[in-house]
Amino acid sequence: MHHNTKVIPAGAYVGYPTIMTPQQLEAMREYAQRDPKAFWLEQADRIHWHRKPTQAFTGSFEGDVSIRWFEDGQLNASVSCIDRHLTDRADQVALISHREGRQDVEKITYATLHDRVCQLANALKHLGVEKGQRVAICLPMVPEAAIAMLACARIGAVHVVLFGGFSAEGIAERLVDSGAVLVITANAASRGAKMVPFKETMDKALEKSKGSHKVHSMLVVHTSSETVSMQSGRDHDFHTYVKEFGTEFTPVIMDAEDPFFMLYTSGSTGKPKAIVHTCGGYLVWASYTMGMVYTHKPGDVLWCTADVAWITGHTSVLYGPLANGGTTMISDSLPNYPVPGRWWDLIDQCKVTMFFTAPTAVRALMAEGDDVVKRRDLSTLRLLGVAGEPTSPDGWEWYHDVVGKGRCPVADTWWQTETAGIMLGPIPGVQTLKPGSASTPLPGLSMSLIDQNGAVIEGEGEGGLFINASWPGQARTIWGDHERFRQTYFTMSPGRYFSGDAAQRDADGYYWLMGRMDDVINIAGHRLGTAEVEDALAEDHRIAESAAVGVAHGLKGQGLAVFVIVRKDAADEVTEKEVSQLIVSKIGRYAAPEAVYFVPDLPRTRSGKIVRRLLRKIAEGQTENLGDLSSLNDMSVVDMLYERVMGQKAFEQK
Ligand code: ATP
Ligand code: MG
Repeated sequence: MHHNTKVIPAGAYVGYPTIMTPQQLEAMREYAQRDPKAFWLEQADRIHWHRKPTQAFTGSFEGDVSIRWFEDGQLNASVSCIDRHLTDRADQVALISHREGRQDVEKITYATLHDRVCQLANALKHLGVEKGQRVAICLPMVPEAAIAMLACARIGAVHVVLFGGFSAEGIAERLVDSGAVLVITANAASRGAKMVPFKETMDKALEKSKGSHKVHSMLVVHTSSETVSMQSGRDHDFHTYVKEFGTEFTPVIMDAEDPFFMLYTSGSTGKPKAIVHTCGGYLVWASYTMGMVYTHKPGDVLWCTADVAWITGHTSVLYGPLANGGTTMISDSLPNYPVPGRWWDLIDQCKVTMFFTAPTAVRALMAEGDDVVKRRDLSTLRLLGVAGEPTSPDGWEWYHDVVGKGRCPVADTWWQTETAGIMLGPIPGVQTLKPGSASTPLPGLSMSLIDQNGAVIEGEGEGGLFINASWPGQARTIWGDHERFRQTYFTMSPGRYFSGDAAQRDADGYYWLMGRMDDVINIAGHRLGTAEVEDALAEDHRIAESAAVGVAHGLKGQGLAVFVIVRKDAADEVTEKEVSQLIVSKIGRYAAPEAVYFVPDLPRTRSGKIVRRLLRKIAEGQTENLGDLSSLNDMSVVDMLYERVMGQKAFEQK
């Protein structure tokens, strides 16, 4: 194992408002293990139930696989997120909305949120939406996105949030697959300097899927002054339509296992999966995981920069903070538009105390240089978080030392659309931190590393990351394809859930994510995670980002190819030899790359993750069977990469 050996003791964050002592954390783990039923029923008490559950887990990973939690409980999730806060914090701000280009932020209290959600709930009912039907929400980061999700929850409709950057094909496919009956979208919205044509794309999607989709109505939020064509009878202006309705709506009582929402995964490893989560277990998990890591105190403002179309947007922007009575921020800003350091300005302006973003954003912000950060105050921050991809120790330390000025713990949290909430992550101020590690499983979770031969690894070691028993926020199925669900997650090691990721565990039980299991590179018997190579390269500050892949090699089985993005101010400075030497010195001779490609960009999903499966094909010069590319953010990157790789190969052969 090659990871960082630096540790930061929990006590380093003087004055951090910890939720428990290390001894209490240990006691909690022990209790969860000894009496899981009692433990989870206690955690279920975090939320408001119409009828309290008496059962905890009642499913099985065997046979057909059935995941059920709190089965005899009844609830409506919107009550936990809104109504129950009205007694003692009706006038507290629930949602801070920042829109790029506008001077003022909008502050929505719990009381106002209640009224706006109920109005929309009435409108949706009036438009004929029934409990269990699907509503597609495709909006920029505006408060209506949160209101729409909560209004669906209130009437028992299943929301399907779709990313605004999807193509018409991508949207059409998801509308048909989910069977959505109503769409909530925007006219058009700016994203940085670009105008994203939400309504136009939606119209195209509906046109393309004519005869296959079930959409009968569309509500259009006018978030900008663009005019768009409205189809009479089908399309309605959101605000004009909704304001006619009353501000009370009796929440529909749901069974714990009624579907809550479905959400498509990022598509990093193949065709996106439509993951289904249910009402009771999801909300308990959102409240528990966010409450353990991002504890809200009065006055706290949590800003998670994820789009609501991803699981982090569901759990960390919306349901976790609101279930816990906090203040959450929604912003459509970009990190460096219109000026570098834009996000740091917003942290100061909105007095953000907990900031949570993706590792790619951290790398992009780091590449802007320290001065950009140092010019801002950032004294309101007390906690920094990250999730979505492995964070290099180097990026972690920069985030911690420069952004957090060494005062704020950094919580690297590992989770998936399928897990709904944080699985691995530190309890800030309670646990020792290790830069580059996602720490340990939250209390109540049991994980295993399993090697090539299916053997469970004890203590230190590396292998596929499996979860040994169900947790309340576990995905229940893949929409319309339970067999794919069973095969994808439950067949690798019967009785366990397979995450698809590879990880190492150190002597202290801390986990270090290595990348996707399928991407692990096997060089003459040495197994190498993509993150190990990328972490090594991250140490050279002239390198902005990199991606490692394994390519077929006659003698070694596989060889290493790396794609490297050099920082603009260091272009042409970094040589192939330096890259190779860096890897050899950090990892070993065997890891010397077969090929180094200097590129301006990498293929990414719309949620910003590097698509290594495609890089592997490109590096091998394969142009056929590229797999599902619908989740790619920018197809032109693929053509550019082929040109580079082919060009370089031709050059080498001369
Ligand atoms: P698909 O499942 O469609 O291929 P995806 O796995 O990228 O897409 P998500 O559910 O959005 O879709 O992402 C979950 C994955 O993100 C995890 O399986 C893991 O590979 C990666 N990930 C998330 N958080 C972390 C983290 N803290 N460290 C390392 N990897 C992480
Ligand atoms: Mg996945």
